[in-house]
Amino acid sequence: MSAAWWLAATGWRVTLVERAPDLRADGYMLGLSGPGYEVARRMELLPRLRECERHIEDNLYLARDGSELLRINYHDFLKGLEWITLARPDLATALYEAIRTNPDVDIRFATEVETFRDEGDAVSVRLRDGSAFSVDLLIGADGVRSATRSALFGESADHLVPLGYRMAAYQVSDPQGLGNDFLSYAEPGRMVEYYRLPQDKIAALHIWCDEDASFVSIERRKQLLGEAFAGAHPDVIRRIALLGEQDDVLLDGLVMVDLPSWHKGRCLLLGDAAHCLTLVSGQGAGMAMTSACVLAEELARGDIAEALERHEARLRPTITTLQVRSRSTARWFVPQTDRAFAFRNAIMRWMPKWLLNRYFQRGIRSEVLAASSLRIEN
Ligand SMILES: Cc1cc2nc3c(=O)[nH]c(=O)nc-3n(C[C@H](O)[C@H](O)[C@H](O)COP(=O)(O)OP(=O)(O)OC[C@H]3O[C@@H](n4cnc5c(N)ncnc54)[C@H](O)[C@@H]3O)c2cc1C
Repeated sequence: MSAAWWLAATGWRVTLVERAPDLRADGYMLGLSGPGYEVARRMELLPRLRECERHIEDNLYLARDGSELLRINYHDFLKGLEWITLARPDLATALYEAIRTNPDVDIRFATEVETFRDEGDAVSVRLRDGSAFSVDLLIGADGVRSATRSALFGESADHLVPLGYRMAAYQVSDPQGLGNDFLSYAEPGRMVEYYRLPQDKIAALHIWCDEDASFVSIERRKQLLGEAFAGAHPDVIRRIALLGEQDDVLLDGLVMVDLPSWHKGRCLLLGDAAHCLTLVSGQGAGMAMTSACVLAEELARGDIAEALERHEARLRPTITTLQVRSRSTARWFVPQTDRAFAFRNAIMRWMPKWLLNRYFQRGIRSEVLAASSLRIEN
């Protein structure tokens, strides 16, 4: 949707094809900062995003038995930073509202590209609904499990870098509520974070160590999640049990995408399809939006082939930095051994607050700084 917005703003006509039947309502919490925040400003999205911003202030970290390890105010760390915490569907809705009435953007839900062929001077595309047309440029922004990527570059395991974890995210109604803005339970090899949402809803994010990062079918997800968190704190088990048939669970391996090139002829991959950084980086959505902006800037300069080269040349150094960061952060993201875990808990419980504050603040600022090496023009 960001690419559609930027291309339409610079004189292109765009056909946007989304496999889902409508805007997906499921989703997790994300932070928009660095270049992604700047791109949202340029799209004049910030007032709309501020309307649905989630204020997560009171954060509580619990040990496996539910005892309190640490209580902090997250808001303090974000002071002075350009940052918005949002639920993913709110970002998607804001982007959708920004393009849906644009006559240069033709949005088609519930279909997907069935086949495409680069003819040299155009790409011929056939959709699953039977329609066919020719385009100057095909952009695959179809996420970490991108079908466009497989069609362009083959299904090579070399492109996928598992970080050693699986994650699951869902929203669910919990009549008992959360009691805090944010609650985290952790134990060796697995952790859960809960965010309070309006009414009695909560957004849950589970992360656990698992060398198997393969795709898990929708039917298998709730069972797998139950198995991964068997024996966890009773509140964790209770909230998993609240999931009904109609509740969607996003569950996947944490897999980085590392491709030697993001484009081929008149086809380009964008966002997670090209360079998924995983949730570890905290910059994936922002970098997808930034990529869209940079692409429009470069296409406005003329020749498509050269524009795709320049787009990649501008984006690649920052993506590489973020990927290196994701790899190294992943190693200690969820402590695996009892010893490492006891060390983490002791620090949280006993380290002076001012030192911990400084540690958290540095972590957040270094994440934003890593992404901010990218220059957006104009
Ligand atoms: C738990 C979690 C927390 C995160 N936190 C942050 C954060 O704090 N900050 C941040 O910036 N990023 C964060 N991210 C990363 C961010 O969500 C992704 O990087 C971002 O969503 C990538 O956008 P995308 O458009 O490339 O892919 P996606 O968001 O995956 O969107 C791909 C779209 O393509 C559609 N699609 C898939 N296949 C097809 C097909 N064949 N045909 C048509 N349509 C198709 C899908 O339905 C989907 O709508 C987080 C991710 C997770 C999982």
